[in-house]
Amino acid sequence: MSEQTIVVVGAGQAGIEAAAEARRQGFTGRVVIYGEEPQPPYKRPPLSKAYLAGTATEESLYVMKPAVMEKHQIEFVGNARVTKIDRAAKTITLADGRSQSYDKLVLATGGRARALPMPGADASNVFVLRTIADIEAIKAHCQPGKRAVIIGGGFIGLEGAASMTKLGVHVTLLEGLPRVLARVTVPLMSEFFERAHREAGVDLRTNVKIAGFEGNPVTAITLEGGERIETDFVVVGIGLVANVELAQDAGLTVDNGIVVNQYCATSDPDIYAAGDCTNHPNVFLGGNVRLESVQNALEQGRAVGRNLAGKNEPYHMVPWFWSDQFDLKLQMVGVSAGHDQVVVRGNPQTERNFAVFYLKGGKMIAADAVSRPQDFMHAKKLVAEGAVIDPAKLADETLPLKMLTTAAA
Ligand code: FAD
Repeated sequence: MSEQTIVVVGAGQAGIEAAAEARRQGFTGRVVIYGEEPQPPYKRPPLSKAYLAGTATEESLYVMKPAVMEKHQIEFVGNARVTKIDRAAKTITLADGRSQSYDKLVLATGGRARALPMPGADASNVFVLRTIADIEAIKAHCQPGKRAVIIGGGFIGLEGAASMTKLGVHVTLLEGLPRVLARVTVPLMSEFFERAHREAGVDLRTNVKIAGFEGNPVTAITLEGGERIETDFVVVGIGLVANVELAQDAGLTVDNGIVVNQYCATSDPDIYAAGDCTNHPNVFLGGNVRLESVQNALEQGRAVGRNLAGKNEPYHMVPWFWSDQFDLKLQMVGVSAGHDQVVVRGNPQTERNFAVFYLKGGKMIAADAVSRPQDFMHAKKLVAEGAVIDPAKLADETLPLKMLTTAAA
């Protein structure tokens, strides 16, 4: 094994976890990780939260500092874009022409922010929220009193709105659908977050259709119906495009992500993949899924690392996610699609903490908790078990959830 070389493409959280776990599991060969960005692997969640709000330093985002990678003999090469995989020769080639041979290859290429396909949306003051460089560019515009338009009412847009509002920026958030977070949660949760943003001063609008951008740099956005919103800059948060081109060009199976089996191997047994770029089987969901979450990047990355070291373990997990906006922490577990009953614990109209449980045929399949870490902890257990709990008891706040968890176990 000591003769072998593992090459990782993509220095995000999935990539570094795969490299580090292979080492932890006793892999003694060479480990080289290539990243297109200049920074060592870093955590993205704080980008739209503490880093944008100016309360976190760049170094605090690093998953592993260069000195620690060196200590574990993980060779990190930054500013290095891998442009080609030659599967027959088992080599990769970089944009600058350098090449590197591998015994096992890991694709952890993540994704890139979806661009708004509209004339004018490529102007100099239109930004996305994906990298440290993106946030630096946005921050340069975030002086108190400045006006920003955020396009997209998903997690990234809402978190960006909260952080920029904290900096004194006047934010207008435009969502095309009838409510924010429409793809991931129930209307009562969307309404709660819409209210929280409006109360904090965000001009949040739903059902909005953008007609065009004026100027470069953009000075105003026009809406269908004729309204004109003047702005100093624009932030677009309309989703992610998985980086699959490298895999696709190499002839690997790609279908809404790089397709992997339960051992995280691609259609080439010497090439694994992990993180946002993968379409992987999930026993809990009963099908294939592509997730965009840190938990998946970390755990799938570790699963790859274990399998690279010869463990041959299937990857299995119940998905969970979180989002911080203002003083609110939303935590979600499971996938609520297909639920036939919703149970609310607490009062979203009057309180800033409550939980929503999703049942299907009586079984708990998902839960969303707002600023209720204890409830979330128990919900994770209940969802993992597919617990059957009397909805009336679930809604009854006089019965501690802990008691119901024990009863269901
Ligand atoms: P990425 O983080 O995308 O890393 C992939 C890396 O590979 C990138 O650095 C890319 O440049 C590099 N790369 C791609 N192609 C090549 C190539 N050909 N050659 C070399 N390098 C290449 N998730 C949560 O669970 N909770 C949150 O609160 C949360 N908040 C978020 C906030 C923001 C602003 C963003 C952007 C994401 C957030 N996420 C959150 C999602 C989470 O950060 C991602 O799911 C996670 O970072 C995925 O990790 P990854 O390693 O798979 O991919």
